[in-house]
Formats: sequence, structure tokens, C-alpha cells
Amino acid sequence: MGERALRGTRLGATSYENDRNTDLAPRQEVSYTCPKGHRTTVPLAAEAEIPASWECRHCGATALRVDAEQPQQKKAKPPRTHWDMLLERRTIEDLEEVLNERLAILRAQRRKSA
Ligand SMILES: [Zn+2]
Repeated sequence: MGERALRGTRLGATSYENDRNTDLAPRQEVSYTCPKGHRTTVPLAAEAEIPASWECRHCGATALRVDAEQPQQKKAKPPRTHWDMLLERRTIEDLEEVLNERLAILRAQRRKSA
């Protein structure tokens, strides 16, 4: 019993220490380059939304993020599905015709086996 109580106290002390450490907000450095090739590094809070561009410190031009992950651009180009490729070759009317042909064959086969 006594040991368990002691352990509990120690855990509490540890978590209190961690809370104090997080008072220093985590930071990240984001690099931007302007059209003239100047590099501007901006320290931002880790949880801050990173702007895609920043004013160049050297010439004032619009500098763009260097290591930009651009999920928005990726989303704009969805991968083509088999269905998309099929529609490039066939119209819906074509497909309905093919489907009806297939269904007719299947129905004929089912009639034979029944
Ligand atoms: Zn510049």
C-alpha cells in the first residue's frame, strides 16, 4: 500500500514538470525563396498555419515556401479511375447497349439451364 502511494506521488510530480516545459511553445522554421533567389527563414509557432508565401526580407518581393507540400494542388487532380477511362472511350448510351446485350445473353443462358 505504502509503495503504491509513493509511486503515485512521483508520477504526479513528473507530469507537473512536463506541463512547465510546454510553456515554451514549440517552433518551426519555414523557408521562403523570392524570384531573385533570396532565402527568408521565418520562425513560426508549430501549431500555426503556415502561409504559402512571405515578403522577402531582402527585396520585398513575394517569396514562396521552399518545402511546400501542396495538398490542395494534389486534390485538384484526382487519379483517374477505370470508370473515367471507360467513359473516355464509351458513352453512357454505348455502355447501356453493351449492358443490354450482355443481359440478353445471360437471360438466354438462364432459360436454357432452367
Ligand atoms: Zn528577394
